[in-house]
Amino acid sequence: MRFVRYGEAGEEKAGILAQDGRLRSLAPLIKDWSWAHLSEDWLAVLKAVNLDALPIVSGTPRLGAPLSDLRQILAIGLNYRDHAEESGMELPKSPLLFYKAISSISGPNDDILAAPGTQALDWEVELGVVIGKQGRHIPAAEASQYIGGYCLAIDVSERDWQFNYAGQMGKGKSYDSFTPIGPWLLTPDEMPDPQNLKIWLKVNGSFRQNSSTAEMVFNVAHIIEHVSKFQTLLPGDLIVTGTPAGVGFGMKPKTYLAVGDRIDCGIDHLGEQTHQIVAELIG
Ligand code: ZN
Repeated sequence: MRFVRYGEAGEEKAGILAQDGRLRSLAPLIKDWSWAHLSEDWLAVLKAVNLDALPIVSGTPRLGAPLSDLRQILAIGLNYRDHAEESGMELPKSPLLFYKAISSISGPNDDILAAPGTQALDWEVELGVVIGKQGRHIPAAEASQYIGGYCLAIDVSERDWQFNYAGQMGKGKSYDSFTPIGPWLLTPDEMPDPQNLKIWLKVNGSFRQNSSTAEMVFNVAHIIEHVSKFQTLLPGDLIVTGTPAGVGFGMKPKTYLAVGDRIDCGIDHLGEQTHQIVAELIG
């Protein structure tokens, strides 16, 4: 199933993309998608519904992030061989974990905000994994049982904020609009193989990233095993699993996003996103 949330920011409603590709409303069964709907019980309820009989949503409404109440964002750095190389860094010996602010979540086609003074705004298309069941010390062989869904994500990164100030690198990745996710959340029963997906991103129509999740250093199951040694994973936690080569920081010369630029990106089975970079005026 493909969970979708549609409507203006803060007023999204639960929808579903049916097999015929039409966006359909889940009202009155479900008002808004929550991590609670990732449970096996809820999935059984949803599977009993004839999705193709639900009312079609008219027009082309804005889409929001596909869950209303994601809990935290865990992120993995340098997780594609080619990206570690372009960054001039050695492959990590274990998944390189950092955190992003939950307030950075935005919709799949929302504007990406360039704050006053931003000078190194960069793109990172990533496979997002949402935890569906609480767990700790999860063996890799059992990790798939804890996945509630997959989504397309961008880990937007301000390299100046990331590298040039003391403290955690997540501060360069946490501004409002820096984690657009969607257009839908795909339940794991419909994901053929998360480690064999084309993943790509274009800036102003030109490919910048074009790879496969087969190139990950640590696969999704390994990441879940690793992270769950250090903390309990909760339903609604989002893990963004790293980006392939082709980011602006790795270009020669380094090339960053400018106001007015357009980003398009996609992952097999998880849809596509389109964003404009807009100047944010403060005060
Ligand atoms: Zn990233």
